[in-house]
This record gives sequence, structure tokens and C-alpha cells, in this order.
Amino acid sequence: MKQIQMVDLQTQYQKIKSEVNEEIAKVLDSSFYINGPVVKEFQTNLEQYLNVKHVIPCANGTDALQIAIMALDLKPGDEIITSDFTFAATVEVVKLLQLEAVLVDVDKDTYNISIESIKKAITPKTKVIIPVHIFGQCANMDEILAIAQENNLYVIEDTAQAIGADYKFKDGSTQKAGTMGDIGTTSFFPSKNLGGYGDGGAIFTNNDEYAAIMRSVVNHGMGKRYYYDRVGVNSRLDSLQAAILKVKLGYLNDYIAARQKAASFYDNFFSSIPGVVTPARVDYSTHVFHQYTLVIDGLDQFKLQEFLNEKGIPAMIYYPLPLHIQKAYDAEKYNDGDFPNTNYLCQNVISLPMHTELEEDQLQFICESIKTFLQK
Ligand SMILES: *Cc1c(COP(=O)(O)O)cnc(C)c1O
Repeated sequence: MKQIQMVDLQTQYQKIKSEVNEEIAKVLDSSFYINGPVVKEFQTNLEQYLNVKHVIPCANGTDALQIAIMALDLKPGDEIITSDFTFAATVEVVKLLQLEAVLVDVDKDTYNISIESIKKAITPKTKVIIPVHIFGQCANMDEILAIAQENNLYVIEDTAQAIGADYKFKDGSTQKAGTMGDIGTTSFFPSKNLGGYGDGGAIFTNNDEYAAIMRSVVNHGMGKRYYYDRVGVNSRLDSLQAAILKVKLGYLNDYIAARQKAASFYDNFFSSIPGVVTPARVDYSTHVFHQYTLVIDGLDQFKLQEFLNEKGIPAMIYYPLPLHIQKAYDAEKYNDGDFPNTNYLCQNVISLPMHTELEEDQLQFICESIKTFLQK
């Protein structure tokens, strides 16, 4: 059996090596290292894939969130509602922009932002909702968009973990994750579902006005060359990453299918193990499995992690601590009792190896090992 990895980028690269190396060589020969033609080419391909009017490439997924927020007409103290169960990047940029992050609980079964909790958190200062499509399955966008419309709020979708997921609206129409709200953001960090070999990110929108502002913000706020219309940042996707991502975008659907196949294997195995809760599937979204996360009630997560590690199986706790207790994010303003689901999940989840190269003997070994642990 091949060594098991949490994310096996090495094997994946070997399979596309000649294509990737050829594209990298073209960039090196061209000497257009920043904003070369390949960045535009990747942008256009991604616009087509997502069926969205504008893709704005940038330096990473955290910048993508920051730039998206900067495109909106907000003032210090305005409130942004987001999930308590996510990577810190989402709240970090809110705070950096002197806006108020308002964390809310998630649903226990989907781990996505709770609709009821959003409703309760809305105040006259609320301006934005940022749903995070956590682990690769969309939050309930029918509900979120309806709340936004009713309360005159913007919606920014954090799609760092869910690129390529399809959302099915109640009226039967479908749209890609990240293209439903006012703005969507993603990350091309190497371990993400569409990952480069370095940092990268992108912002999506169908709104021409936001697109124009964000294209200026990523480039120091410039309008005409050397005319600065607003304060911006320097956030670019470099040509080498764009070249790599262009190749990998061509495989994204295959990669998603490979992840879904591994997820089905896990699902089947664990369906017969009492006490193990496999990831819930909703009828309004496909699941692209950035993570495959189990919930095991009363689990000693770190003991299971250590047990698996000793057998050569990596496993991770995403996320070990909710954001509402973090010192950096105003822990004192929250009431711990308002977060029963994040508190529960943080104590009972474990994420298993999930990537495009998992083989059946590896999956079997991972599953059997967990079964052994639980029956001890
Ligand atoms: C990875 C991630 C980000 C940040 O992306 P970077 O490219 O690492 O800056 C933001 N939000 C979520 C949910 C993520 O998983």
C-alpha cells in the first residue's frame, strides 16, 4: 500500500507533470511573470466554467475576501454576519477593515451557517452576510438570499472550500458556488480543490460596478495609470500560478468526481458502524468534499488522531476551537450558550484523508483502523 497522505499533491502532479511543466516553461520563456497573457486566459476559462461575468484573480483567498468587502459601500462599525465554524481568514479581514464581525452558530448536520441564527443576529447595523460553503457543500442560499433581500444586505460567498459545487434553487435552476451572492471569493492554496503550487485566489461577480472597483483595488486602487481613485492593495495572481491553474481547471470535474468516489467509500463503510455520523448531504447542493469529516459523539479526537498517526494515517481536527472564543475576535462579547452546535462539533469532529488520489486499499485501511479504535 502506498503511504497515505492527508492531501496527495505529489501523485496528482506526477499525472499531469508534462502538461504543467510545458505551461511553466512557456511562462519562463515569455518573461511575462506578472499579469502575463496566461492570467487573462485562466480568468476567461474560469468565467466560463463558473458561468459568471467577472473573475478577478488575486494573490490569495484572504485577500479575495478583503477586496470583496472593500468593493461594498461600508463604514466602520457596520456589521458582517458569518459562521463561527470556519477558518479565521473570514473574520480576520472584517476586523482589519474596522468592521464588526458577528459570529453565529452553524447547523449541527451540515456544519453550514444556521439560518435561524442569522435571523436572530440581524440589527440595524448589519450590512453583509458571509456564508462559508464549509468542507465543500453549499449553505442554504435560497434562504440566505431571501433574508438578504428582505433586510437589504449584501451577500459574499466564501467559496474557498467549495469551488465547482452546484447549487440547485427551489425553482429548479442551478448555479455554481460563489456566483449566487453579490460577490464570491475563493482560494487556490495548494491543498484546496483547485490549488496552485503557491498562493492564489480569485473573486467572482456578475455585477459590473463591483467588478470595476475590485479590478482597481487589486492594483493599488488605480483607475487610469498613475491616477489613484481609491486606496487599494497589491494583490495579483502571478503568471506561473495562472499557468498551473489553467491546466488543473481542465481536470477539476475529474478531481471532484475522485473526491466524491472516496467519500462514497467512507460513507458505505461507516454506515454500519454505530455512533459514527457521516457528512450529511442536502438536496440543494452537490458536495465537492474539500474535507470528509466524521462526527463521533463523545469521541476523544486527539486520541483517535494519535492512534491513526501511529498507523501512518494522517487525520486532522477541523476546527478544534470555535472562533467565538478566540481572543483576537472579541470573545468577551459572545455568550457561549448561543453556540451549542459549533461547540459540539469542535469537540466531536475528525477529518479523514481526502484527495484525488486515494486508492481502495488505503481507504479500506483507514476505515478498518477507525473501526478498531472505536471497538477497543
Ligand atoms: C483557505 C481558506 C481561506 C483563505 O485562503 P488563503 O488562500 O489561504 O488566504 C478563506 N476561507 C476559507 C473558508 C478557507 O478554507
